[in-house]
Amino acid sequence: MNTIDRQIMGDLTKRFLENRLAKARAGIYPLANLFFFITMRCNAKCSHCFCWEDLNIGIPEPTLEQIDTMARTIPKIRILILTGGEPMLRRDMPEICDAFGKYGNVGEIKVNTNGLAPDKIEALATGFKAKYPETALNFQLSLDGLEATHDRIRGIPGNFEKVIRSLQIIYEMGRTMPLLTTDVLTVINAENWHELDELNQTLHERVGHGLNHGFELVRDVRTTAWNIPEAIRESGVGPKNMAAPPVESFPKIADALRKINNRAPFKANPYIIHNLAQLKMLENGKPQFKCRVAGQAVGVIYSNGDVAACEFTKPFVNLAKYNHDFSALWHGPEATARRTQITGCHCIHGSFHGKAIEYSALGLAKTAGLAL
Ligand code: SF4
Ligand code: SF4
Repeated sequence: MNTIDRQIMGDLTKRFLENRLAKARAGIYPLANLFFFITMRCNAKCSHCFCWEDLNIGIPEPTLEQIDTMARTIPKIRILILTGGEPMLRRDMPEICDAFGKYGNVGEIKVNTNGLAPDKIEALATGFKAKYPETALNFQLSLDGLEATHDRIRGIPGNFEKVIRSLQIIYEMGRTMPLLTTDVLTVINAENWHELDELNQTLHERVGHGLNHGFELVRDVRTTAWNIPEAIRESGVGPKNMAAPPVESFPKIADALRKINNRAPFKANPYIIHNLAQLKMLENGKPQFKCRVAGQAVGVIYSNGDVAACEFTKPFVNLAKYNHDFSALWHGPEATARRTQITGCHCIHGSFHGKAIEYSALGLAKTAGLAL
């Protein structure tokens, strides 16, 4: 185990024990990750997009005033994920990040972006870090394959090079600015599964060896979730035009993921355990790690103010009912009732299943095994 692996395992184990203790005291895990859809506008046309039906149809966006109230009233969390749609399309992105920076309730702001606006990304990073050097800022860039594959899946010629540019900018800035990072997320699907390793090698060459490269499997509530009660099951979450990789490809995908993890500067990565478990789940439909986090450690706020435990279950209340006071909502009767309804389902959704690995003793043991 190298020094980074030891530090990661130490942090994971500490968090695991703290979370267990907090749950024993309060009955639920403390909120750690919050997904906030700040717009449903988007300038890409990805064939694997799971929310394509909601894009560019005029769904309302939270105002700065509402965001400010929310930022003030959320509990202290580890990661706020600003997503959409394409969050960088909001002209007031600096002010939105500012709202979360100034109250200090968020350990890290993560911006999920398609990377089409390298200049805006650079300006946001420069402005935010000058003001909030102690708050971590991360840009998670989507990259779905080598140049031809990525641009075809995204429906935007030239998208690949813009992502590389965005990555290079933040990676370089991160060498001198503390707590500024970037990483890549690749959604594994029927069109790109064969080039995962080559894509990773390209990233090492063109961006840097320290870049974190994560993976997800294309998600679809119809085919990648099981036993969600019908009354709360969300419909229409899934791609318009993209299949999962064929089952015959799974051993090759698993090999590529292991190879990529061995190339990374650290090996203790719960997400690889999650990816391997996703493949097993897709193959046999059986649960691998219990979903312990949806509606407890992880939550979702949509751009119209609706709040959900996860993206595969329906929203249970709107922030407007609580005047945008998030903590009041999260401990209110609707949230409590929803938690009692989601105990028996399982799914491959990475934001929840991937996180659940960290809340499982088996997940921690397997993660440690990777690093040995
Ligand atoms: S996946 Fe993201 S970038 Fe692509 S169309 Fe959907 S919201 Fe836009
Ligand atoms: S994230 Fe958890 S609660 Fe939501 S559908 Fe998946 S298993 Fe069920």
